[in-house]
Amino acid sequence: MAVTEPAPAAVSAAHEGILRRQSARESAARTYARALPIVPVRARGLTIEGADGQRYLDCLSGAGTLALGHNHPVVLEAIRKVLDSGAPLHVLDLATPVKDAFTTELFRTLPRELADRGRIQFCGPAGTDAVEAALKLVRTATGREGMVAFTGAYHGMTAGALEVSGGARDVRVARLPYPQDYRCPFGIGGAEGAELAARWTESLLDDPKSGVPRPAGMILEPVQGEGGVIPAPDDWLRRMREITAARSIPLIADEVQTGVGRTGTFWAVEHSGVVPDVMVLSKAIGGSLPLAVVIYRDDLDVWSPGAHAGTFRGNQLAMAAGAATLAYVRENGLAERAGVLGTRMLTQLRSLAAEHPCIGDVRGRGLMIGVELVDPACSGGAGSLGDSGGPGGPGGGTGTPGGASAVRSLPAGLLDRSLRPLPPAPELAAAVQRECLSRGLIVELGGRHSSVVRLLPPLTITDEQAAAILDRLADAISAAERQHHG
Ligand code: PMP
Repeated sequence: MAVTEPAPAAVSAAHEGILRRQSARESAARTYARALPIVPVRARGLTIEGADGQRYLDCLSGAGTLALGHNHPVVLEAIRKVLDSGAPLHVLDLATPVKDAFTTELFRTLPRELADRGRIQFCGPAGTDAVEAALKLVRTATGREGMVAFTGAYHGMTAGALEVSGGARDVRVARLPYPQDYRCPFGIGGAEGAELAARWTESLLDDPKSGVPRPAGMILEPVQGEGGVIPAPDDWLRRMREITAARSIPLIADEVQTGVGRTGTFWAVEHSGVVPDVMVLSKAIGGSLPLAVVIYRDDLDVWSPGAHAGTFRGNQLAMAAGAATLAYVRENGLAERAGVLGTRMLTQLRSLAAEHPCIGDVRGRGLMIGVELVDPACSGGAGSLGDSGGPGGPGGGTGTPGGASAVRSLPAGLLDRSLRPLPPAPELAAAVQRECLSRGLIVELGGRHSSVVRLLPPLTITDEQAAAILDRLADAISAAERQHHG
C-alpha cells in the first residue's frame, strides 16, 4: 500500500499540537524544551529533523552526550547486536559479556596509573548519581565529612551533587575560587590569577582557624561546562593535584561532560598529566544511552556491599553503545580531531569578536566552546558580575588550550575586554539562541548568568559543517545585536 505523505498544513498542525500538549501537561521545571520549541522526529550525525520538516544543526548534542552525533552506524549496530542476541536487557549489576567488554574498553582509555589500580562502580544512570557515589566513596574511605568544591561548579541535581555545585548554600562544603581569565575574582586573570586561586586553596586547608576542617575530598571539573566553558589552566590543575596529595585528600575529577575526546584528549585531565584518585564519568560513555560510573583507586575501595545500590545499573544497550563509541573515538583519533577543529573554531570566533563589541569573551577547549555576550552599552563594568544564574544554568568558559596563559595571547582588543569585563547580557544571549534556531542551529546557553552561548557539536563534524555552524552563529549574533540595540 502506498504511503501518502501528509500535507504540509497537517504536518505543521501535528507539530503545533505536540508542542501545545507539552506545555499544557509537562512540568514548569522543564528546561531545554522552553528555549527550543522543536519536535525532533529523525536525526543523523549533526542533523535533527523536526516534525514540521525543518532541519537543524545540533550543537547541543544531548548536553554534550553525543560524541558521535545522532544514530551513528556503529552505535546502532552495537545496539542491534545485543537486541538480536537474545541477551537480557536488565540484569541489575550482574556480570555479562556486554558489561565485560564495556569495562575492558573503558579501562583501556583511562590514565594508565589509574587503570592499573582501578575499580569501577556502576551507578544509577545519571551523572549526578555517580557524583553521589564518588562523594560517598571518599567520605567512607577518609572517615571525614566535608568537601571542597569550586565556584561556578555544576555536578548535578541530587542533594549531594547540588551541595558541591556553585549555586549551593550550605556549610558542609567549602567553596574555593575556580581560576578564570574573564571575570577573574582577583581582577588579573592569567597565570597570576590562577596562582592566587591556588594559594587561597592552600591557606584555607592549612589555616587551623579557616573554618574548613580537613575535607574528605576535592571535586572539580577540568573544564567547567555549565559554569561557562571555563578550562582550568594545566598548571593550576597540577597544583590542585600536589595540594591534595600532600594532605591525603582524594581528588575527584568530574569528567561527565569533558570525557571521551570532547576537549582534545580522551580525558580532559590528560592535558595536565594529572591522575585523579577518582573519576566520575557519564554522558558520552553510554553512546547516547544512560550510563554513569565512578572509577577510583583500589585503596579507596573500603565501602560496604550495597553502599551505593540502585535498580538501573545494568543497562546492556548503553554498555554496548558506549563500548562502540569509546572504541570508535579511540581508533579514529577523534580527540585529536576535536582539538584541532576546536582551536580553529576558537580562532574564527575571536575574529568575529573583533567585529562585535557584544562578544565579551571567546573561550573553550576542543569542541567545548563558549561565547560570552555582554552589554557594551554599559561602560565601566569592570568585574561587574550581576546576579547569579543559579546552579542549573547552561554554562560558559575561558581560554585557548593551555588555560590561563591564553588570555595573554589574545588580540589587543579582546585582551583589553578581558581585563575590564562588561556586564553579562543574558537577554541578548537568549535572543542569539532564538536567532540561531530560526537559522536551523541549536545551541546551548550557560554560564553563571546564562549569558554564554555554548557549542558542543559531535566530534565527527566535517570542516564544512563547522563552517556552516559558525556562519549561522555569526548571522544570528548580528541579528540579535540589531534587535537589541537597534
Ligand atoms: N557533572 C557535570 C560536569 C555535568 O556537566 C553534568 C550535567 N550537565 C552532571 C555532572 C550531571 O549529570 P546528569 O545530568 O546526567 O545527572
